Amino acid sequence: MKNLDNYNVERKKILLRVDLNVPVVDKIITEKSRIETIKKTIKILQQQKNKIFLISHFGRPKGNQNKKYSLKFLCSILEFEFQVAKVEFLDNIDDFSIQKKMNNMQYGDICLFENIRFYHEEENNDSNFIKEICKNFDVFINDAFSASHRNHASIVGPSKFLPCLAGPNLIEEIKNIDSFINQSKKPSLAIIGGSKISTKIKLLFNLIKLSDKIVIGGAMANTFLFALKNNIGQSLVEKDLAQVALSVLQKSKDSNCEIILPIDVMCANSIRDITNISNYDVNLIPSSMMALDVGMETIKLIKHSILRSKMILWNGPLGAFEYSPFDESSIQISNFIKKNAKKLNISTLAGGGDTVSAIKLSKAEEGFDYMSNAGGAFLEWLEGKGSPGVNALKENKIN
Ligand code: ADP
Ligand code: MG
Repeated sequence: MKNLDNYNVERKKILLRVDLNVPVVDKIITEKSRIETIKKTIKILQQQKNKIFLISHFGRPKGNQNKKYSLKFLCSILEFEFQVAKVEFLDNIDDFSIQKKMNNMQYGDICLFENIRFYHEEENNDSNFIKEICKNFDVFINDAFSASHRNHASIVGPSKFLPCLAGPNLIEEIKNIDSFINQSKKPSLAIIGGSKISTKIKLLFNLIKLSDKIVIGGAMANTFLFALKNNIGQSLVEKDLAQVALSVLQKSKDSNCEIILPIDVMCANSIRDITNISNYDVNLIPSSMMALDVGMETIKLIKHSILRSKMILWNGPLGAFEYSPFDESSIQISNFIKKNAKKLNISTLAGGGDTVSAIKLSKAEEGFDYMSNAGGAFLEWLEGKGSPGVNALKENKIN
């Protein structure tokens, strides 16, 4: 792939795809990793006096100009983070507006486009739409690994019209994830949590082939517990996927991959009503309560598995970690990995926005060889099929 080390980008007009889909609560960015990771790219491009246009999606406005999903609020934040006097903003993504803005900018200046998903052409992967944008640029750089699993115009489209480069952050993500997978040390353990089994079915089937053991926690585990005829009370569950859960269990038996499900869970009446919190065995969950974290005995079981592993892959928090005390297991496991991984020469990889947040909350970053901010893209990459964005970079023939 062409990149900033083997392709000269000086005094060029650059279309830079980034992932600024940052988590925001009450107009405050709760997690800035996605901005942190592109700082280096911006610095290089600025030092080489390029005109830089940042293109990103934000939320799911579904092709509508919904101001709730405007990226404008990010300009002042990016000015601060990039330590630059000004980040320009461009509301309208059309040929005329881009030309006008481009002509008013100096080399080294930065402009942020409005949310590309305000245009339905983005998710429809409309070739003419991206062609009109590309007309105004010399080079496209994809530094958004976390969005590269999507067949969208601003991810795969430019490869037909511009020289396309892999950005430093995208390269770093691929290098680290691949080098983890390729080690194939044994025994290997996968810890999979999160809210929904539906988003991770393919991953589970794939992991059965790759791992010696899989721990299933989070709300995902509820679907398995339900399929195994436990009463799971009011817990979050995908009942229609009970059969899939059973077939995951069957396939794992056939492949000699051990699956560990919670044996106990921490329950409350609801996420908001925590007046009544108790640890229950999974076959004794009261009908009025919901499981919001794995329980104390399960935590011990997971720690035991960690000590017997040489490779650990973690995706998905083990409980509703945003709501204390249901962060207990995710914090304990993060810290346990931090304490033991280096000492016992265990390779560790974590991926997923919420997983990384949980690890950071535990201040346990140093326990992990690598943490990927990518969620869906990370999981799809682990499935081994590459990603549309990266394939587009590889296939790009324009110099
Ligand atoms: P990642 O972003 O790391 O891929 P996911 O998005 O798959 O992780 O899952 C994270 C979400 O799962 C969190 O919002 C967390 O609250 C939720 N979750 C985990 N366990 C439970 C549970 N038992 N009940 C409800 N939600 C849960
Ligand atoms: Mg998530």
